[in-house]
Amino acid sequence: MEDILKNYEPVIGLEIHVQLNTLSKAYSSDATEYGAMPNTQVNMISLGHPGTLPRVNEKVIEYAVRLGIACNCTIRERNEYARKNYFYADLPKGYQITQDTTPICNGGYVEIKDADGKDKKIHLTRIHMEEDSGKSIHDIDPFNTLIDLNRAGVPLLEIVSEPEFRNGQEAYNYLAEMRKLVRYLDISDGNMEEGSLRCDVNISVRPVGREKFGTKVEVKNMNSFRNVQKAIDYEIKRQVELIESGGEVVQQTRTFDAARGSTMVLRAKEDAHDYRYFPEPDLQPVIVREDYISRVKDNLPPLPKELFNKYRELGLNEYDASLLTESKEVALYFENLISHTGNYKAAANWIMGPVKSYLNDKAMHIEAFPITAEKIAQLIEMVDAGKVSNSAASGEMFRALIENPDQDPATLAKEMNLIQESDAGALMEHVHAALAKYPEKVEEYKAGKKGLLGLFMGEVMKLSGGKADPKVASKLVQQELEKQQ
Ligand code: ADP
Ligand code: MG
Repeated sequence: MEDILKNYEPVIGLEIHVQLNTLSKAYSSDATEYGAMPNTQVNMISLGHPGTLPRVNEKVIEYAVRLGIACNCTIRERNEYARKNYFYADLPKGYQITQDTTPICNGGYVEIKDADGKDKKIHLTRIHMEEDSGKSIHDIDPFNTLIDLNRAGVPLLEIVSEPEFRNGQEAYNYLAEMRKLVRYLDISDGNMEEGSLRCDVNISVRPVGREKFGTKVEVKNMNSFRNVQKAIDYEIKRQVELIESGGEVVQQTRTFDAARGSTMVLRAKEDAHDYRYFPEPDLQPVIVREDYISRVKDNLPPLPKELFNKYRELGLNEYDASLLTESKEVALYFENLISHTGNYKAAANWIMGPVKSYLNDKAMHIEAFPITAEKIAQLIEMVDAGKVSNSAASGEMFRALIENPDQDPATLAKEMNLIQESDAGALMEHVHAALAKYPEKVEEYKAGKKGLLGLFMGEVMKLSGGKADPKVASKLVQQELEKQQ
């Protein structure tokens, strides 16, 4: 099978629906809060009562423009709305207000890693604005389907990619990148489990070297990134096996069965003309002008790529920079931290070391981390100045600050008796005592046995009760030994 798979090239395109985190719906003032009692956030507009009129929520435009800028898209000036007609129990109006021929964002791309970890650009076809349907609930009442219309009319952005993915791993990486992006942009919580990020996958295969695409199959209903990847891998194999056995792929919509790890037919795919798209008569086109776009751009939150590049310029390696920008909240904490200290490498080590392991331990988000960035910066400073050892700072002091975050690190170090002796006067006594204790060893050292330095150092550390700054002490011991020669 592996050999046969090599003769085919998978072609994959993704359609992602992102649920926006606006306070009200796309075309009405209904609230959008997740988890509210069913059907409590539904007014006449969401229900499409006669005589009601939709009104555009300006935030939806702003969020679409934010995403468009972040994905390097061209933003359309004149945005028309369209009706997409279909009958569905959870679509009370009988149509969805969407955009057909004039999507707000066109072109653009997102940078991802391919399966080998190399940079790859995935181009976007379009991003358009639309509204969500309600939710049919099949598993509460044994005889009836229940409907919750709270979600009906909640704003969505649909992001359509070009068919540029070649395997499931790339699709996974793209989804992770998109989720990161919408979270940084603060336009969606990006939770796939709560349905704020949904993904339909289009998959076809073609013999290697052939330009014409094969017939595609659309797979829906995957609730995790891993399942998207699995569905793709399964579907590639299924299609190749089908073709190899003399069959033909037919255009279908399939569903992914996570328990079996396979896809099953849902329905024959409908064509666009089945939806009878026509211009939405109840909404005026929205005009998005250049100065509006510039304003949104000026107020754009920092993007992961920008921060990544910034951290690389500050001298952090690729690994550190990408870990620090993985989550927006971590990046913001780091930003705060480096506004208080210039030791960027130490700052990165603190976040990825003690801070992250504490958070992992407690299954806690960094927003709830008790120690302020300013105090971590003070700890870094104290270590750099040789006042406390790194292990004391990231161990005892760190734990004490977590217990009582109001403490002042400098006072704490004194109280905990952790201040290192780096003052040469006090240390020198220990150095003299150490050398006086081993006169023969001093002779041996002078005769060339430089390895004995460790012995003297050990003695100095012992005499100081472990509080000597090793760097300073080592310098002093060597100086003294030189003098005696
Ligand atoms: P439809 O009209 O069926 O919705 P579109 O042309 O709008 O199809 O494309 C929908 C998605 O399918 C896009 O992400 C696109 O990149 C992808 N796609 C289009 N053709 C193919 C193909 N032959 N194989 C795989 N994906 C494809
Ligand atoms: Mg389409």
